Amino acid sequence: MEKIKTVYIHIPFCNNICSYCDFCKVVYNPEWVEAYFKRLEEEIDNAYMGEELETLYIGGGTPSSLNIEELEKLFKILKKFKKSKDIEFTFECNINDLEEDKLRFLYKNGVNRLSVGIESFDEDKLKFMKRECDFKIARESINLARKIGFQNINLDLMYAIPNETLKVLKKDLSKLLKLKPEHISTYSLIIEKNTLVGLNKIQPIEEEKDAREYEVICKILKKNGYEHYEVSNFAKKSYKSKHNLTYWNNQEYYGFGCGASGFVAAIRYENTKSLTEYLKGNFISSKALMGKVDNMENELILGLRKLEGISLEEFYDKYEENMQNIFPIKPLVKSGELIFKDGRIFIDPKKLYVMNEILIKLI
Ligand code: SF4
Repeated sequence: MEKIKTVYIHIPFCNNICSYCDFCKVVYNPEWVEAYFKRLEEEIDNAYMGEELETLYIGGGTPSSLNIEELEKLFKILKKFKKSKDIEFTFECNINDLEEDKLRFLYKNGVNRLSVGIESFDEDKLKFMKRECDFKIARESINLARKIGFQNINLDLMYAIPNETLKVLKKDLSKLLKLKPEHISTYSLIIEKNTLVGLNKIQPIEEEKDAREYEVICKILKKNGYEHYEVSNFAKKSYKSKHNLTYWNNQEYYGFGCGASGFVAAIRYENTKSLTEYLKGNFISSKALMGKVDNMENELILGLRKLEGISLEEFYDKYEENMQNIFPIKPLVKSGELIFKDGRIFIDPKKLYVMNEILIKLI
C-alpha cells in the first residue's frame, strides 16, 4: 500500500457566518481555541505514523481568524509532521484577514500557498452571501502577500447567485483576473437546508442559467491562460493543487479536526461536526471500510472530475481489472458523453455540467 503523503487540518472558527455555509464552523471564540488545539494535538498523536508529507492543507472554517499567538500554538503542533523539501503547504484565509504580521508569520513558518476566499466583489452578491470584500483592499492585500514572498495564490469565486446577471459575473471575473492568481476555484451556489438561505427558502437558479454561467467562466478563464483541470478548478501552468489531486486520484490522506474527513488504511472516516463532541475527545463519528468495489467506484467518481480523466492502464495496475469490464463505458463513449483518447477515459468537457447524470449511468 502506498504511504500517506497528505494531511488536511480543519480549523472551524469564522469571524462571520456566511448565509450559504454548510461547512463545519462556529463563530470565533478565543475561549475555545486553546481547548480545540489540545484535542487536535491528541487526535494527531493518536493517528499520525510519521510519514513524510507532500501536501499539508489548513482549511476551515477560517484559519486566518486566529491571532498570531494562536497561530504560534497551532504551528507548534504542526511541527510534529515530517515535511518533504518541496511540500505544498496551503493556508486558507479570508481576504479581510491578510494583515502584514499574519502573512509574515505564515511565510516564515513554511506556508507557500494561500487559498483566499474572495467569492465576489459585487455589492448585491456579497449582501446575499453575508460577506464583505472590497476590490481595492483585496488588491492591496494580494500585493502585500506577493511582496512578502507568496508565489502561489488561489482565489475562490462564487456564482449562480439568484439575480446575478452575466454582466455581474463577467465583472467579477475581470476583477479577479486583475489580481493575477495562479489558481482559481469556482463554486456554484448550492442551497442547503440548514443554512440561512435554506431556512429562508431561497430557490436555486434554473439549471440552464447555471450551465450558461459555468460556460462563461470556463471560456473566460481559458482565454486568460488558465488550464481547466478539474470540474471547478483552473490553474496556470504547474500550479494545479497537489493537495486536491490527492482526493481526485483516490489516494489516502489524514483529516484532522472537527468536521474533517480522512481515508486511512482502507477506511474512510468522518469526524464529528459537533465542536462539543470534538472537545470531549469524541473525534470520529462514522467510518467505513472500503472494499475493492468501493475503491473502484470512488476511483471513477473522483477521477472523472479531472478533465484528463482516468488512465485505463493505471486503473488496471491498481485493481487488476479492466475498467471497461467493470463499468458500462462503451455505451457512453458511443453516446458521446465519455471520450476515449490516448488510453484515457474522460467526460466530454462540454458535458461536464451534467457530470452527475453521467456518473449515475456508470454506477
Ligand atoms: S463559507 Fe467559509 S467563511 Fe463563510 S461561514 Fe463558511 S467556513 Fe466560514
